[in-house]
Formats: sequence, structure tokens, C-alpha cells
Amino acid sequence: ATPTSIMVGTGRGAEMGILFRKGEALQLLKEASVVAVDKTGTLTEGKPALTNMTVADGFLRDEVLAKVAAVEAKSEHPIARAIVAAAQASGLVLPTVNSFDSVTGFGVRAIVALDGTETRVEIGADRYMRQLGLEPAAFASIASQLADEGKTPLYAAIDGRLAAIIAVADPIKTTTVDAINALHALGLKVVMITGDNRRTGEAIARTLHIDEVIAEVLPDGKVEAVKRLKRDYGRLAYVGDGINDAPALAQADIGIAIGTGTDVAIEAADVVLMSGNLQGVPNAIALSKATIGNIR
Ligand code: ADP
Ligand code: MG
Repeated sequence: ATPTSIMVGTGRGAEMGILFRKGEALQLLKEASVVAVDKTGTLTEGKPALTNMTVADGFLRDEVLAKVAAVEAKSEHPIARAIVAAAQASGLVLPTVNSFDSVTGFGVRAIVALDGTETRVEIGADRYMRQLGLEPAAFASIASQLADEGKTPLYAAIDGRLAAIIAVADPIKTTTVDAINALHALGLKVVMITGDNRRTGEAIARTLHIDEVIAEVLPDGKVEAVKRLKRDYGRLAYVGDGINDAPALAQADIGIAIGTGTDVAIEAADVVLMSGNLQGVPNAIALSKATIGNIR
């Protein structure tokens, strides 16, 4: 590409809210064959809400929710905010929390002090419960049903007993469907990469016509997934917004950050989408094809 065509393309991108931090990205984009996309905050709003809660025999909903929300009040995860908001909406008073721990990719745990007694509370994904030696079999059918609706099932354990299943749902951005259709029209494959439950990821992928899902990815796993996809499909663009997307953004041929995302993601990216949604990706690829064209 000529310096002039890169200048023209970069300028037109800026008008469209597509910032090229590296001129090379504009040239590489037109050759992309696969777009890997983070789910939470990129395809979805990143603002989940609690939609369901079922307690096991012998447990009271409000008591469990108060304890769980007290623990989640110490966490920064969007899931945590959903649970705290639900407890507040129910007017619950949250007990004191000691020795909080976050088990990355699995969940959170702490000791809750209430009326002079201490309770051990763990909350997280089904794999977290299994790691604790708790088989969430009692909730298996309700969990599958929730996941098939695109909701994320989570489990709470109290003093080593499975106490509740909680589901949160994160709305899909209104712009996501059209953006994926546009990527398909440009001949690209679209792959979702998420730390979320496999069944939940697959349900969301079905509604969005996403081609492939890589789910239950642990924090380091996004880079590995990107490497594998590059081997399988060729030139790859990765789209993400979070701190944990930064290594994958750097590993991709073209790293694209959502402008409303974290500074860490933006710093690691080659392209920043000021619109805050996925529609900027097909727009950027179309722009690359139009301005770089076959001029050599
Ligand atoms: P993602 O942001 O893609 O969900 P994470 O690695 O942050 O990836 O989390 C993976 C999974 O771990 C979540 O989907 C959830 O099941 C569980 N988890 C993480 N943090 C929390 C939390 N604060 N409360 C409950 N579950 C959590
Ligand atoms: Mg995200």
C-alpha cells in the first residue's frame, strides 16, 4: 500500500470512530479470515443481572443471598455486582466478611461473620464446586435449562454444603447481530472465546450464528486459543475489552479494542473502536478493502 492510501484510510477511519494506532493494521485487516471475539463486554453489555435463584432443602433464600452478596461485595467481577444489586433490591443487610479470596476463573470465597458464628462461603462456576469436592448434581437439570437460555449458572456453597444455584444474564448488545452478519457477508469466520459456561456460550452463539465457541477458558487460555485459531484459519483479528483480553490482543495479527473497555486492552490493541460495539469491526475491514485495495 502507498503511504497516501494509508493516510487516506486512517483519516476516513477516524471520521468513522475507528482509530488505527498502527498503520500496519489497516493493511492487514483486509486479509483477515477469522475474527475471534470475547463475549462479556464485547458481544454483551457486560452488565449482568440476577435472574434466578433456587436454594437447596434446608436453606433460606434471603439468608443465602445475604451471605453470598456480602462476599461478592469484595469482588470486582460484573457477576458480583449483579448479585450485590439483587441483595440490595431485596433490602437485605449484608453480614461482615473476613479473609476474602478470589479464585481466578473459578469464583470467590470468604468467611462470613453473623450473630457471633462464622460461616464459610464459596461461590462460582460448577468447576469450582467440583474442585471443592461438591458435585452439583441436584441442580443439574435446572442448570442446563438456565444455560440453554443463555444464562450463566453459578453455585453457592455454605460450610461445605451446596446451598443454591444462582443465574445471571447479560444482555446482548443491540448492535451485535448485525455486526456478525456483516462479518459473514465479508466472508469471515466468527469465533467466540469466553471464560463462561460452555452450554451458556453455545446458547448465545446459536442466537448470534457464531461459527465456533471456545468456552470455559481460564485467564491464560485466551492466548492459547488465539494461537490455535491462527494455525487453523490464518490471519486473525481479536476483539476484546477487558484486562484479561490484553495478551490475546497482543497475540492476534490485528488486536481490536472496544473503546469503552479498559485502558489495558486499549494499550494492547492496534485498532480502537470508539463506537463501543462490534459494528466497527466489519466497518474497519471494509475500509481496509476499499482504501488499500490492490494498490501496491
Ligand atoms: P469471564 O469474565 O469471561 O466470565 P473469568 O475468568 O473472569 O471470565 O470468570 C470465569 C468464571 O468464573 C465466571 O464465568 C464465573 O463462573 C466464575 N467467577 C469469576 N468470578 C466470580 C465471582 N466474583 N462470583 C462468582 N463467580 C465468579
Ligand atoms: Mg470482556
